[in-house]
Amino acid sequence: NREIHLASRPEGWPTADNFRLVTTEVPTPGPGQLVVRNQFMSVDPYMRGRMNDVKSYMPPFALDAPLDGGAIGEVVAGEAEGVKPGDIVLHSLGWREYALVDARAVRKVDPGIAPVSAYLSALGMTGLTAYAGLLDVAAMKPGETVFVSGAAGAVGSMVGQIAKLRGAGRVIGSAGSPAKVERLLALGFDAAFDYHEGPVYQQLKAAAPDGVDVYFDNVGSDHLEAAIGAMNLHGRVAICGMIAQYNSAEPPAAPRNLALVIGKRLTLRGFLVGDHGHLRDQFVQEMAGWLREGRLSYDETVVDGIEAAPEAFLGLMRGENLGKMLVRL
Ligand code: NDP
Repeated sequence: NREIHLASRPEGWPTADNFRLVTTEVPTPGPGQLVVRNQFMSVDPYMRGRMNDVKSYMPPFALDAPLDGGAIGEVVAGEAEGVKPGDIVLHSLGWREYALVDARAVRKVDPGIAPVSAYLSALGMTGLTAYAGLLDVAAMKPGETVFVSGAAGAVGSMVGQIAKLRGAGRVIGSAGSPAKVERLLALGFDAAFDYHEGPVYQQLKAAAPDGVDVYFDNVGSDHLEAAIGAMNLHGRVAICGMIAQYNSAEPPAAPRNLALVIGKRLTLRGFLVGDHGHLRDQFVQEMAGWLREGRLSYDETVVDGIEAAPEAFLGLMRGENLGKMLVRL
């Protein structure tokens, strides 16, 4: 069994030196435990925060111990009520080839509905984040104009497509390259722009001449400032993530226009997907239907091998992914 440990805590941008590949014995299950041969593991932006030794909504990763995070694989040993070897299960002990998990902490999935990787992407945590943030937190209504940043990523690409499928009037996305912009237009976004090509506010105003009703924020900083500037009266902002500042040692310089929230009567609401588990069944049902009918597409960027997991994580932070960044083990 090979696993990735956190060797040191990054300051600012992480590097390969912050991680260590460690070989250990394949675990044997005790009572109530399962051994899972992981097939895919997720790398996610929130993991950057857990590399810092600070109190947050999730505990920090320990030094000289394996990192963890979403993973899916096949049960190869152990047995518990409702789970047996051969079953495909979702759990939270990624960053290793073999995971020893508490049988109560796994969720069995049906590999007949979609490829197993989809349970870490479109049908998984990032898909639910998009669904809950857009429909529950921001309460998007048909006919509204929606703007999403980080739009070519795992969450953002779902936000834009779900918005269209649920009747948004106009959907605009921003992303970090011309190829990503092209992909967004192919996915059905009405407009998209590369935030490197000019100030976000100007590009957003050009794409949304009638203003924005819902902003789904994955980026923060100048994107949030631009959105606040472009929002219509009574607009809602779902604050999902602020990736522009995760690797920065300095506090962000934007938004500088927060006072507009008052006159525009805006709602800015932060949320965590973990609080929206009650929507999971409805979400899976609706998403699986859209996938089956070919009305929704999802991209995955797959990197091979546990040894490449740190590089996959760094690549995610640099924007090398289209859709969900995954590691195949
Ligand atoms: P993505 O698949 O979107 O990958 C991250 C993307 O962020 C990169 O591909 C890159 O794309 C973009 N990015 C990186 N740095 C910057 C920057 N400085 N400015 C603008 N864009 C940048 O990741 P996820 O879909 O998994 O996550 C998206 C966001 O949602 C994150 O902020 C994450 O923390 C948050 N999140 C929040 C959850 C919650 O419960 N609140 C749950 C899950 C995710 P590009 O090439 O476009 O720059």
